[in-house]
Amino acid sequence: MVPETMKAARFYGYGKPITIEDVPIPKPQKGDLLVKIRNAGLCHSDLMVIDNPESPYAIFLPLTPGHEATGTVQDVSEGVTDFKPGDDIGMNFQYYHPCGECKPCTRKIMARGCPTNRMHGFTRDGFFAEYVVVDSKSCIKLPEGMDVAKAAPFFCAGLTSFHAVDGCGLKPGDWIAIVGVGGLGHLGVQYAAKMGLKVAAVDVDESRLKVARDLGATLTWNGKDLADPADFKKETDGGVAAACVFTDSQLAYSTAVQILDLGGILMCAGLPDAPIPVVPLQLALRQVRVRGAWLGSPDEMDKAISFSHKHGVVPHTESFTLNQLPEMIEKMKKGQFEGRMVVRF
Ligand SMILES: [Zn+2]
Ligand SMILES: [Zn+2]
Repeated sequence: MVPETMKAARFYGYGKPITIEDVPIPKPQKGDLLVKIRNAGLCHSDLMVIDNPESPYAIFLPLTPGHEATGTVQDVSEGVTDFKPGDDIGMNFQYYHPCGECKPCTRKIMARGCPTNRMHGFTRDGFFAEYVVVDSKSCIKLPEGMDVAKAAPFFCAGLTSFHAVDGCGLKPGDWIAIVGVGGLGHLGVQYAAKMGLKVAAVDVDESRLKVARDLGATLTWNGKDLADPADFKKETDGGVAAACVFTDSQLAYSTAVQILDLGGILMCAGLPDAPIPVVPLQLALRQVRVRGAWLGSPDEMDKAISFSHKHGVVPHTESFTLNQLPEMIEKMKKGQFEGRMVVRF
């Protein structure tokens, strides 16, 4: 039996505290699922909404933040045939009712630009709540044996880091640099190692480099020692075929360009709110290619989630209760956390 009300985190505007309130449980529309949230992660991108005086999302307030979660289906609406109550699922937060006909929708990957589309945690209530209504087309069932109470980090951090590494199109045995071994990068190290790539992990924090070694990195390098990348390049047969940057440090980006081999790929996954230092001369003479990685569309989720489960990729998490969300946000702002901070319901 679904109750009438639920606990949800509510955000009213920049500078105002997040509150945990009793609110009505939303009703599914056609094609929707009512989901009981089991695990929800806090992502750095949540700060674009809750710690941003110039947030473009302010017109959608108040709302429930959060965009990375897994849960169990409680109810399905008319027209839903792929899911039933009791199914454990993961959600792609970027899609709620795109029209399916406009230009962004027909250019599949850009459907989140559709005028009717809403994104959980940004333009529609998100996942730091006991229940949520989601578009069934944005969900997948978890693979048999994947723990719904722990799998939230795969649905933003995991999808992004998988697509960053996979999108480089490298072959087993090629060198890849994972620059920044935090919430995204520690998953990137695992994905790259499990794809058979030789992983060079770069970070300025020695404890994170140790984590990278434990997760399968062949080589670890303190970013502070890369002012002259000659030794690094010697160790990696002339430089890495791709460097995936998972931090928002501009310095990390300039380092990443320096350690690429000829024809290498700079994959942007960490998002500084500033230009990245790329010199056109390097792009031209060294044939460096710059690309970006993102979460991906709902039909791209299966490959990433199946790979994660099959190869035993494990997110490092620190668990909290919903009432502790304000504390989690403070920790994130100060950088005082390891791995992914999640709410377990
Ligand atoms: Zn995210
Ligand atoms: Zn559309």
